[in-house]
Amino acid sequence: MANIILLGPPGAGKGTQARKLVDERGMVQLSTGDMLREAKTSGTEMGKKVAEVMDRGELVTDEIVIGLIEEKLSSGQGNGFIFDGFPRTLPQADALGRLLAKIGQKLDAVIEMRVDDEVLVHRISGRFTCGKCGEVYHDATKPTKVAGTCDVCGSTDLRRRADDNEESLRTRLMEYYKKTSPLIGYYYHAGDLFGVDGLAEIDDVAASVAAILDQQV
Ligand SMILES: [Zn+2]
Repeated sequence: MANIILLGPPGAGKGTQARKLVDERGMVQLSTGDMLREAKTSGTEMGKKVAEVMDRGELVTDEIVIGLIEEKLSSGQGNGFIFDGFPRTLPQADALGRLLAKIGQKLDAVIEMRVDDEVLVHRISGRFTCGKCGEVYHDATKPTKVAGTCDVCGSTDLRRRADDNEESLRTRLMEYYKKTSPLIGYYYHAGDLFGVDGLAEIDDVAASVAAILDQQV
């Protein structure tokens, strides 16, 4: 059982690795977006607060997110937690540290998914998927055999995510460097930081992550 943070720029594959850890190890993924949606419909005290704030069209504060995380961590479910997309800033990292200390839990590892920006931009900006079967393609590295038709299921419903383009990705990368990358130094200093090659094959990344987790228990 381990609590970990997956850290890395958008497109580095944090979500993919988190899903594998959920499936293979029974860990619980704490994604801020999911938590907020879930809280809104939960009817708990925190949930009511979240619903009020969101209904007023306001941003949910760090304090509220920390409250939601506390509810989750105290629920005793799952075999460890994966923080995906939180903390995103140094104040959030501090707040998470205080919360964990308060409830007698700890962070076991912060896993930084290291990627080369240019490779990442190339990889993400050419990506499209089949709307029917979910197969993933790439303009340069994995085009469809017949233009506009899925190799696997023959569907012509091929989709590009609106934010899978170079400009949008570079904006998100800049945001990451400004606000989130200082966490790398923060957790390095705390002795919690581990790095994996985020551009390796998915299964190889997963094996590196597994090796780090197995050292922790
Ligand atoms: Zn298909």
